[in-house]
Amino acid sequence: METKLIDGKQIAREIRAELKEKIKALKEAGKPVPKLVVILVGEDPASEIYVRNKAKACGWIQMESETIQMRADIREEELLDKIQELNQDPGVNGILVQMPLPAGFDAEKVLDAIDPSKDVDGFHPMNVGKMAIGNPTALESCTPAGVIQLLERSGIEISGKYCVVVGRSNIVGKPMARMLLAKNGTVTVLHSKTQNMDEILKQADIFVSAIGKPKFFRGSQFKEGVVIVDVGIHRSEEGICGDVDTQSCQGIASYITPVPGGVGPMTIAMLLYNTLRAYEQQHEK
Ligand code: NAP
Repeated sequence: METKLIDGKQIAREIRAELKEKIKALKEAGKPVPKLVVILVGEDPASEIYVRNKAKACGWIQMESETIQMRADIREEELLDKIQELNQDPGVNGILVQMPLPAGFDAEKVLDAIDPSKDVDGFHPMNVGKMAIGNPTALESCTPAGVIQLLERSGIEISGKYCVVVGRSNIVGKPMARMLLAKNGTVTVLHSKTQNMDEILKQADIFVSAIGKPKFFRGSQFKEGVVIVDVGIHRSEEGICGDVDTQSCQGIASYITPVPGGVGPMTIAMLLYNTLRAYEQQHEK
């Protein structure tokens, strides 16, 4: 069997091009341009790169963006006050606080302070709840929403398929499972306490891994024709790899996402998508 690569870079490019067209149309109609504000607390080098990439991606599609850099030693109240100020600013459509926050901050409290209608990361309990009950106004968590886009835009049917998600974090595994269910997949979630993992893996039509263990899964664990989506990202001296040993899946999987270049590029594309959706919903009111 030929194993096809799902090109996340190309699909992210397509999504950005669609968003750019929509923003162009808003500008031509004399409407305000959507704006994303990213708050970075402290000087974590990896976070600085992520934040820079988000600002760059906004630039590509002519979306407005602002990065607010705050020192690691500020009081939590200062951060909460800044979020309140942005919540009330009608010119700001999306607010994102870059995680992880420095030690001493209560991340849950900070995320809860963001107005759910501007929560473009989709982490606020209001958006998580809306997504869980299938409310279409939910702003959905970017990485799993990106996986759905990868599958759909590659012509992969989810409805009726047996979908196995490994990992149950709040940002990937759990929302991933709910989104696949919403698309009429039959979903099983595996985690570190699962006992009969191999038995379940062999039945998967669509497999999504988000466990954070380099090259943990091998092709021999799957049935022929499985679609493999690898959310994991691991950096080492040999380069970047995912949770799946991609090489061993050649000839077994029908489709597979490469790492890098699979799920990774979709996360920022979906952040831009959410910011435009947030803007549209705010302007509908
Ligand atoms: P996480 O919060 O550490 O969660 C990992 C999950 O995997 C947990 O639910 C854990 O189970 C489960 N797990 C760990 N070892 C396992 C094993 N041996 N067998 C079965 N389940 C196991 O991780 P995360 O934030 O979801 O991220 C997962 C990976 O995705 C990481 O590599 C991360 O870098 C990557 N990621 C990529 C993107 C992207 O844009 N592409 C975005 C987010 C995350 P328990 O709950 O039982 O502990």
